[in-house]
Order: sequence, then structure tokens, then C-alpha cells
Amino acid sequence: MTAPSMLAQALTHLEDAAVHLDIDTDVLEKLKYPRETTQVRLMIRMDDGSRKSFMAWRCRYDDTRGPTKGGIRFHPESNADEVETLAFWMTFKCAVMNLPYGGGKGAVRVDPHVLSKAELERLSRAYIKAFSRIIGPDRDIPAPDVYTNSMIMGWMADEYASIVGEATPAVITGKPIALGGSLGRDDATARGGYYLVRHLAANLGFKPGSRVAVQGFGNAGQHIARLLKADGYRVVAVSDSRGGVYCPDGLDVDRLIAAKQAGSVTSLAGSGGVKAITGEELVSVDCDLLVPAAFEGLIGAGNAADIRAGIVLELANGPITPEADEILAGKGVVVLPDILANAGGVTVSYFEWVQNRQGYYWTAEDVHERLRRSMEAEGAAIWQLASERRISLRRAAYVHALARLASAIEAHGTQQFFIS
Ligand code: GLU
Repeated sequence: MTAPSMLAQALTHLEDAAVHLDIDTDVLEKLKYPRETTQVRLMIRMDDGSRKSFMAWRCRYDDTRGPTKGGIRFHPESNADEVETLAFWMTFKCAVMNLPYGGGKGAVRVDPHVLSKAELERLSRAYIKAFSRIIGPDRDIPAPDVYTNSMIMGWMADEYASIVGEATPAVITGKPIALGGSLGRDDATARGGYYLVRHLAANLGFKPGSRVAVQGFGNAGQHIARLLKADGYRVVAVSDSRGGVYCPDGLDVDRLIAAKQAGSVTSLAGSGGVKAITGEELVSVDCDLLVPAAFEGLIGAGNAADIRAGIVLELANGPITPEADEILAGKGVVVLPDILANAGGVTVSYFEWVQNRQGYYWTAEDVHERLRRSMEAEGAAIWQLASERRISLRRAAYVHALARLASAIEAHGTQQFFIS
């Protein structure tokens, strides 16, 4: 028997959520399959004169609530199943936050670290050339994801502008500020998670001095460590792809960020009471809040039982496998689920898109304030739903989102409407 696809596993959340709502069967029929997935082989000229090709995808999962929205990742293991699953999660994430978007996602199968800067620019532009018919400010709006950044978004927006013959900044979000990006987009994923934890802190028993461990020290990991540290929480462990560091009294976050920028956080091990640990050991560190901020599936059946944290904040997409989710529920661990916890990124992407369309730009305070309000409102609604129905926060988040998706799908007419 072949293992179920990643999308099949993700769809169990849809079925589980549907049980809690009185929705038309049309809704599940519509949300069970990705609407459109395009696969292209990108060809670029390398610096040594050779030609090289890379597989690339863009999936528009569902656009009932608006144009599809979601990032583009550059990763050596990307594949169609992963892209479709991430697009499914985006569909629910946008509905959780009540953004007027459907869900999409894109990827290129490449290790961007081995490309030169000029090759990276050619690849980014080639992606837009190939997918320019699919994307558009009212159709499908990309953004950064794993191993893509604001500079890449800037190249992509520029390529799109030259294809359509006019500046169209709203086609892509996460751009550099100088090219129509929004203030507050760079730390938005972490900041959204931070506002959520802060708002639910009393319910979670999380207070200044509580200990935090961060798995993955890219954009989201660095910013959450910085924000929590500034509020008096103790960041006791951090890991990146080369390994981790641990210090029960708390790590110096500024030094961690400097070390990561120079290569890896592991260079801090050995001085000032900082101990080297492996990435695997980070998961089982004695702490109150564990923040997975790296990749999918890093917390699985093999290591979930070792988790000592009482709370998990999912800043990565899909860091906990369904089996691990059950193990954590059995241990009483409270999981703040990805489609809520990391939704700050796409929420500020929405703010960027609104600003681009208005041609009127907000202050960082405006962005933070609107993000805070959205995270608190949706977070509180999901917390309440979970308490009332005695279900996990993950299931409550799916129920909350599915109710919005269902009312949009049903507004076109239900089966009952058409036969009566
Ligand atoms: N890639 C981010 C995510 O997974 C952001 C998507 C966006 O801003 O559109 O949520």
C-alpha cells in the first residue's frame, strides 16, 4: 500500500471540521480537489554558459472567496503534492482571517543556495514569464515563502510589469519597501503569532519569564525570538539547519541573530554557558513554549512524545504530522495551529495589496495595530469555539474557516435550492 499523499492527509481536517457544521455536500465536493495546478519546466542560462532546467508549479486551490493568494518557495524537494497541500492550507488560512482571498501556492524545485545572484534573478524572472497568464492582482497573488525573499518579489513584480506593460505592484506582496512593499511585512508572520500568544497568555498560563525554544531560525524564528525576548520571555534554545544551542538561563537573541547572519547559531556554543545541542534535541528541551518555525513534518510520531513544552506555536506550515498531533493531544499539549498562528504574514500581505491598489501607504503603527486587532479577534473566536465544543484549537480553526467558505459556496445555490 502506498503512503497517503500529503494532500490526502491534510483533507482529513476538512472532513473532521464538516462534522461540526450543517453544510451542503457541494461544499466538500468543491474543497476536496485543487481547482488548477500548472507544472512548467523553467529553462535558464547559467553563468558558465550552460542551459539548465527546473521544475516549477503554481496551484490555485480555490477562489470562491476571492483571488488566490500564497507564497512561492524555492526548495530542492518541492513537488506537486506539497504545493497543492500548501495551497489548501492557504485557502483555510485566508478564511480563518476573513481575508477576501482564496488559496494558492507555488514552488520551484531548486536549492537556491547553490545559484549565483544573477542565476537567482534569471530563475525568478523565468517563473513569472512562465506563469504570467495565471497570476494577476485580481486572479492569483504570490508572496515570499521558504527560501524566497523581498528582493525576489521585487524582480518578479518588475518582470510582470514588463510583460503587461504597466506597473502592477498589487500582483505580488512581500516586495521591498522602496518598490511598493508594506511597512511591517518583514516580521508579520512572527508578529501575528506574538500577538496571538500575548492575547491568549492568561488562558495558556504563559507569563514573562516563561521559557521558549525556537526550531528554525529564518525570518519567522528570528523575529519571534526578538519579540518574545523584548517582552521578558526567556529564549532558552534555538536551532537552524546545522544544529542548535541551549542555555537554561536564556540566550542573547541579538547575538543569535548576528551568528545566524554570519552562518549558523551553532557558532555561539561553548561560551557563556551556551551548550551545543542537535536539531533533534531541541524538540525535547525543557521549556514552556515550543515554536516550530522551519519545515513541514519535523514533529512526527517519532519525536512528539518527547516534547516537554505545554504550548506549541506553529509558525511553520504543517510542522506537526497528524499522528504527532494525536500524541500531543493525549499529553494535553495546547497547539496553536498554523492556519491561525502564522496567518500574520498573509494578513499583512493583504494590507500591502490594499495599499498598492489605493496608492496610499500606511505607517508601521497602522499596520501593527490592524494586525493585532485581526489576530486577537480571530484568535479569541477560535479559542471560544474550541472551549464550547471541547475540540482542539486546530479543529476549531478549521470549523471557523469552513463556516466562512461554506457560506460563500452556498451563496451560489445549494443542492436543495436546485431541486426544490
Ligand atoms: N508564505 C506565507 C504563508 O504561507 C505568506 C503567504 C502570503 O503572504 O501570501 O502564509
